[in-house]
Amino acid sequence: MFCEKCGKELLEGAKFCGSCGAKIEPEQPAPRVAAEPPPVHPVPPPPAYTPPVQAVTPRQAYAPAQPQAYPGQPASEPLSVGQYIGMFLLLCVPLLNIILLFVWSFGGSVNLNRKNFARASLIFSAVMLVIWIAAGGLIAGILSEISGGFY
Ligand SMILES: [Zn+2]
Repeated sequence: MFCEKCGKELLEGAKFCGSCGAKIEPEQPAPRVAAEPPPVHPVPPPPAYTPPVQAVTPRQAYAPAQPQAYPGQPASEPLSVGQYIGMFLLLCVPLLNIILLFVWSFGGSVNLNRKNFARASLIFSAVMLVIWIAAGGLIAGILSEISGGFY
């Protein structure tokens, strides 16, 4: 810093020039804009998160439909004891039982219990028939084997 009048170097912070005695205007700091704190913008609260509305896919529309009882569906009420007895009696008839089993198994309006029972009986009979045929063949083979040994 130098004196404005005589140009002599001044001491730092001197109020008067040591050489000419001129008053030293304190160096004005650069007009500084009052450093105002930056206006605090109120932070807007984050918008409430709204999950994206998912378009209902057509697949959801086709929810697995509950099995609806259609008019032609056979009743599935449990059979009474008398009905079971009658069923067993009918199945004792040699040729009729096979016919009845097929009718009940594949009939349109047959009680579900009777239908399932008939199907189970048919499958069981078929299995037993196969076993008996196989066993019969085996026995016949053994018998022929034995008889062949004698002759
Ligand atoms: Zn001076």
